[in-house]
Amino acid sequence: MTADAAKRGLMERLADGPVLGDGGYLLELERRGYVQAGPYTPEVALRHPEALAGLHREFMFAGADVLEALTFYATDAKLASVGFPGTADEVNRAAVEIARAVADEGGALAAGVLTGTWEYVVDDKASAAHVREIFERQVELQQAAGVELFVCETFGFLGEALLAVAAATATGLPVVATMCYGREPISEEGVANADCARRLVDAGADVVGLNCVRGPHHMLPLAREMAEATGVPVAAQPVAYRLPEDQPEFGSLKEFPFELEHVQLTRAEMAQFAVDARDAGISLIGSCCGSAPYHVREMARSLGRDPDGERTWKPDYENPMSGFEYYGAGRKS
Ligand SMILES: [Zn+2]
Repeated sequence: MTADAAKRGLMERLADGPVLGDGGYLLELERRGYVQAGPYTPEVALRHPEALAGLHREFMFAGADVLEALTFYATDAKLASVGFPGTADEVNRAAVEIARAVADEGGALAAGVLTGTWEYVVDDKASAAHVREIFERQVELQQAAGVELFVCETFGFLGEALLAVAAATATGLPVVATMCYGREPISEEGVANADCARRLVDAGADVVGLNCVRGPHHMLPLAREMAEATGVPVAAQPVAYRLPEDQPEFGSLKEFPFELEHVQLTRAEMAQFAVDARDAGISLIGSCCGSAPYHVREMARSLGRDPDGERTWKPDYENPMSGFEYYGAGRKS
């Protein structure tokens, strides 16, 4: 039996219960010295493929069912802006091949990814045609390189998200589409959250939801609203940062980007998010910037998974050599 035949697709998995996404690649790879803060472009797929493959593998070991290829911002304009002109095709191809190879090692699914291009202008037909072309090219390359679903994400413009969904659904593969709002939970065109969700479903998205910018606390109510508005499976992929009540965007924190450690959510907090999301009926439970493999592992455990199996690094409270008794801390009753 080939790996393909053995793998169950996204929609089959969602029918059985919550599916766990991976965490945030760009900020974690920036912390590790492979990505430039600010542009957050994905040339690491060409320059240090081993670093990208390693992080995919860590997320998969931690329990992620879906690995998102690092094709975030993999467009000519974005890559040219950081000194890598003419590499977009190569980055799209390499990033997917890396994600798919790792996914096949452990039965996870490799997702192609389309993101906001920063080239979309509302009510401008020429920009829409240009962005459509970008997405169609990315989809063509990513499908040829072996993606098993598409994730259209980090869209502030509903119009741009719809162009991505149109390109992705043409493949017949499952399509997840998530919105990413600024301060107010409305698209850049002024479309309310629930209406964005309905429009994405009408355009053919199989799963709708939200990703990035907001933390768990600011995102979950919006995800629940999308679920109620559409009846389709909903995704929630918040950042793993602690945001003030009146400041829902992590990019506007004074700690961004080099003091985010001060507002890092703990693995226990992300695990609580996973449980809250499941209890709220969210089907694709993921995370984004700031969420590292150790967060995903606790999210998996909180959902009743045993991601480590034989390779167990669970705390052993009973082992007298473990030090828990000695230090008198950490023991859970
Ligand atoms: Zn993010």
